[in-house]
Amino acid sequence: MSSSSEKPFLIHNTEIAPGQHDVVRIPVGRLPSGNLMTIRAHVFRSTQPGPVLLAVAGIHGDEVNGVEILRRAITQGLFENLACGSVIAIPILNVYGFINFSREVPDGKDVNRSFPGNMNGSLASRVARILSKKILPYAGLAVDFHTGGNGTFNYPQIRFSQGDEAAEKMARIFGAPFLVTKPLIPKSFRKAAADQGKIALVFEGGENLRYDAFTIEKGLAGLHRLLFAQGMLTKEPAPPDKCMLFRKSTWVRAPRAGMFLWRKCSGNKANKGEVLGVINDPYGEWEVPVAAPRDGYLIGHNNAPVVSQGDALFHIGWEWE
Ligand SMILES: [Zn+2]
Repeated sequence: MSSSSEKPFLIHNTEIAPGQHDVVRIPVGRLPSGNLMTIRAHVFRSTQPGPVLLAVAGIHGDEVNGVEILRRAITQGLFENLACGSVIAIPILNVYGFINFSREVPDGKDVNRSFPGNMNGSLASRVARILSKKILPYAGLAVDFHTGGNGTFNYPQIRFSQGDEAAEKMARIFGAPFLVTKPLIPKSFRKAAADQGKIALVFEGGENLRYDAFTIEKGLAGLHRLLFAQGMLTKEPAPPDKCMLFRKSTWVRAPRAGMFLWRKCSGNKANKGEVLGVINDPYGEWEVPVAAPRDGYLIGHNNAPVVSQGDALFHIGWEWE
């Protein structure tokens, strides 16, 4: 893992020396109204060299639990008085999506499918480039905080790549209730971080545009454990509750369109053949059960009341330990 040296960080013409704390406002363009948009990076540095943790949220602008986790971490002083190393925290990367209550930037592009990005590219590509070029190179470990998208609720979980032992070690230290191995998505931030030789984790929890207290608590506690395990904080965190690791996961999709009601939600065990929910027609003429295709645990579920055929309804994790 790369670690902070005695050298200052240089982020958008701002020098942050060891022992300093600063908030760097990085311009990312203007709104059509002319208002300047900036990404704020909170940089906390110990006088002592050590690991550098990058915590990012709001790559998807409507995924507010991640934003709230970093807001609380900053206001509670979690990153102050580091015993060694540095933390760079960016509560909202996609500031455009955040003000529009949207996952994407205004042209509909997904920042998390635009890495490593290009300063002459689309808006999403420019936002991605700022992170991958100006900030990520300083970090050794990156945690990207997400929330379930588009009405999907995710049970608090850490995602990492199968076979990435360094990431699995950090995921276990983070200690989210569920650990899920997921392949790297092309052009995602996690892929860009892995390509730069960084240890990269994705945290997922709750549903877009809604706070979930359980998720926020698990995210904050996980950050505390990561910092403590690397000697960056001396105050001992609470140990995690039991963690379950899932090496495979599958979506159960809507067999037809209609009104959807789940009977079992995320965090619970599902047995093969068990009815997890039903789809009704709006006129009370028929009802179709949605059954679990295998034994597993529900790691995510859809809260949408109206679904189309093929919509993802339940995310089942299996091959667990
Ligand atoms: Zn997301």
